[in-house]
This record gives sequence, structure tokens and C-alpha cells, in this order.
Amino acid sequence: MASARVHIVGAGLSGLSAAVQLARSGIPVSLHESAGQGGGRCRSFFDAKLDRRIDNGNHLMLSGNWAIREYLAVTGAKDALTGPEDAAFPFRDLKTGETWQVRPDRGRVPWSVLFGPGRVPGTGLGEYLRGLRLARADDDATIADCLSGPGKLYERFWEPLAVGVLNTPAETASAKLLWPVMAETFGRGRAACHPLMAREGLSEAFVDPALAYIKEQGATIAFNDRLRGLGLHGGRVQSLDFASGAVELGERDRVILAVSAWVAADLLPGLAVPTEAHAIVNAHYRLPSAPPADAPPLVGLVGGTSQWVFLRGDVASVTVSAADALAEESNEVVAERLWPEVRAALGLAPDMALPPWRIVKEKRATIAQTPAANRLRPDAATAWENLVLAGDWTATGLPATIEGSIRSGRTAAGRIARAFTSA
Ligand SMILES: Cc1cc2nc3c(=O)[nH]c(=O)nc-3n(C[C@H](O)[C@H](O)[C@H](O)COP(=O)(O)OP(=O)(O)OC[C@H]3O[C@@H](n4cnc5c(N)ncnc54)[C@H](O)[C@@H]3O)c2cc1C
Repeated sequence: MASARVHIVGAGLSGLSAAVQLARSGIPVSLHESAGQGGGRCRSFFDAKLDRRIDNGNHLMLSGNWAIREYLAVTGAKDALTGPEDAAFPFRDLKTGETWQVRPDRGRVPWSVLFGPGRVPGTGLGEYLRGLRLARADDDATIADCLSGPGKLYERFWEPLAVGVLNTPAETASAKLLWPVMAETFGRGRAACHPLMAREGLSEAFVDPALAYIKEQGATIAFNDRLRGLGLHGGRVQSLDFASGAVELGERDRVILAVSAWVAADLLPGLAVPTEAHAIVNAHYRLPSAPPADAPPLVGLVGGTSQWVFLRGDVASVTVSAADALAEESNEVVAERLWPEVRAALGLAPDMALPPWRIVKEKRATIAQTPAANRLRPDAATAWENLVLAGDWTATGLPATIEGSIRSGRTAAGRIARAFTSA
């Protein structure tokens, strides 16, 4: 008789995280993915126009993201992230040309903000103290409810941070979701605030090493294998209907559904999920020559359309989150509009012509992270005894991010592992 196995549907980061945890515990895993590659919304590809490998979108992480660090350590990819030496976030105001740095203090108490030198230009102490309201934010509070008010800190720090982390306009984004991020990073001091990004690419960091690791542990992996339906009967999943054929489940077999919220709702009758989404637009430019040696690898921008510019080698990539309107513009318009902002951010010659570019629009990049959507995020456990959910949209208590996805995979794997050992 075949040994009991866990079928994981979806090889995005939540599915991969669950697979890594289970494989690590010696539990047999089969991973099924509808696309021809893993990574889902977090992946790299070769772009022939730029003649470079690029990511579907810039992904920023922080050194305080402990689940990311642990995942990379297990898969042998702990050196796959990189970032500036210093835990500092350079910003530029595109309207005024002013520049500044947000640089957390070494310890938990932000002395440099309390006494002045660490403050963003044009801001006062009271504006920082407003940030403490996040800790007490109720379920209905938005970022704007909590943090907007007189002064420049909102526009120069809170709003870009919140839109970047929550991919939702600050007027509708859930304040409650930003607090755990602040507590686990800025609240812990500089060591937890180093900005991190993929050294070579997202797939090279998060996907390829994880697939190699689980394969080594004996997992089977099937790409181009879409789950078309679930055979639900007697309170459990009895069979999985894949594009490649049906799989009948044994008594002890289990399933982790690690697909997007929208796919999960289609597959599972009666599952309520957050359905509203926001777009993220990324513009990648291959610079005609090496960027200036002092060009920062990461810059936050206010006062324009671009929000963050990342530099990897000679490719400058711009992120615009909560970009539903921009995503409706033609790629040419987006490339032309963002290029002057990139030039300013990196200190390039003001007459440098538009270089080769690639626009990537992820129209459903994440769920809208509003108070209403937050209430709809389901727990990992389902009404079906052998079925568990994973995904950045489940009730992780965190925003829909890599850290949230990886933790959701851990949670799902933990539930299954307990059932395996107690059976
Ligand atoms: C452009 C962009 C920028 C981002 N920036 C950041 C950032 O800066 N920092 C950060 O932390 N996070 C960022 N994120 C969010 C992060 O990428 C996601 O939270 C994470 O990748 C979600 O992983 P997941 O596994 O939950 O979902 P997904 O990646 O959606 O994975 C689901 C997988 O299931 C597969 N699938 C779907 N249907 C089926 C089916 N029927 N059968 C089999 N397989 C199926 C899909 O193909 C996919 O591979 C960004 C996202 C985008 C799109």
C-alpha cells in the first residue's frame, strides 16, 4: 500500500513553504502547479528585449522577516538576498528635489527621532508619536484615520510605507495590518530594518533552491498540472481532478490548497474570501551605461508617480503599488511617464533618452488590504477534515507579502504534520 502523502496545490511561495516544511519532516509530498514554472506572483524570467533576467516585480523585504530567513536557510539560499550595508532608506521628493534618509536607531528607543537629528526634514516629534496609534488601531481603522494630520511625515513616510507594504491606498488600507510589520522591524531597531532584495532574481532566491530541496527529499513535482476540481464527500476531499488525470486520496492523504483567493473560492463551495484586488505596475529600464557609483540600490520617491526605484546591475526597476489607474494606461505611456522620475532618483543625466524598457502589470497583485477584506480572510483550517488552506490572503495577521506567504505555508504544514504524527 502506498504511504500517506500530502498533495500541495500551487507552487507559489506559500505552497513551496509548506512543501519545504513537510519534506524537512520526512513527510511525502506531491506538488502540483498549473503554470509551467514555480513562484506564482514572485518569479524571474529572461526578457529578450532587455537581454537580462528580471523579476515580475521588485520585492522588498526586511532583515526582521524571520520566516523568510529561516526558509532560505533550509533551502540553502541564505546568501540569495542582498541589500545596502546600512539599514537606511533614502528618499527623494520629486517635486522639490529634497532628499533625506530614514535610518532607524540601533536600539528599540528611537533616540535620534526623539531628539531631532533622525527626523525627516520638515517634521515634528508629535507626528512620530502619532505612529503609536497603530498599536491600538481597531478593526475598522484605516492608515489615514490613524496617521494623517498636520505636518509632512504622513506624506513623506507613513503613506509611501503603507502603500508599499499593503498595496492599498492609505485612505482605505487597514491600520491593524501595518502594526505587526512595524513591531517586527522598526520596533526592534536597526538590525531588523536592513532592506533586502533578491541578489540575482526572485526565482533564484525563493523558487529554484526550494524545488531542488524538496526534490532531494523525495517530493514529486508536476508543472502544467492544473487542479480542475475537488471531489468532496463525507466531510473530506476524496479525489483531486487534475489536468493530467484524477488522483484518488487514501484515508490518510491530505491536501494543502495554496492557490490564490479567487481560485480557492472557485474550487471550494461556500468559501468566503476577499475578492477585491489592487494592481502593481513595474517598469524595468536597461540603462545605456553603468549607473553612477554612488547611485543607491533602493530609493523611495514621493511627489510623483513612482514610489520605489531598485537598481540591479544596469537594470533600474520602478514599482508603483495600488496602481489600478496606471495599469489601464498603455505600456508606452507608462514607460515614458516613469523614466524622468528614474533619472532623477538615480542622478542620471537629465537628457538621457528613454532606454529599452519592459512594463509588467500585475493587475491582481494582492488582495485589497482593507478592514473589510481583512475580516474575510479565512483560517488555514477548513470544513473538510483533510484539507488546509495556505496563501498570502489567508488569516496570517500579516499583510499579503512574502513573509505572510511563507508563514501561511508553515502554518498549513504544521497542522498537517500534527495530523500525520497523531494518526
Ligand atoms: C508585482 C508584485 C510586487 C510585490 N512586491 C512585494 C514586496 O515588495 N514584498 C513582499 O513581501 N511581497 C510583495 N508582493 C507579494 C508577494 O509576491 C505575494 O504575497 C506572494 O508571492 C504570494 O504567494 P502565494 O503562494 O500566497 O500566492 P501565489 O504566488 O499566487 O501562488 C499561487 C500558485 O498557485 C498556482 N495555481 C493557481 N491555480 C491553480 C490550480 N487550479 N491548480 C494548480 N495550481 C494553481 C498559481 O499558478 C501560483 O503559482 C508583490 C507581489 C507582486 C505581484
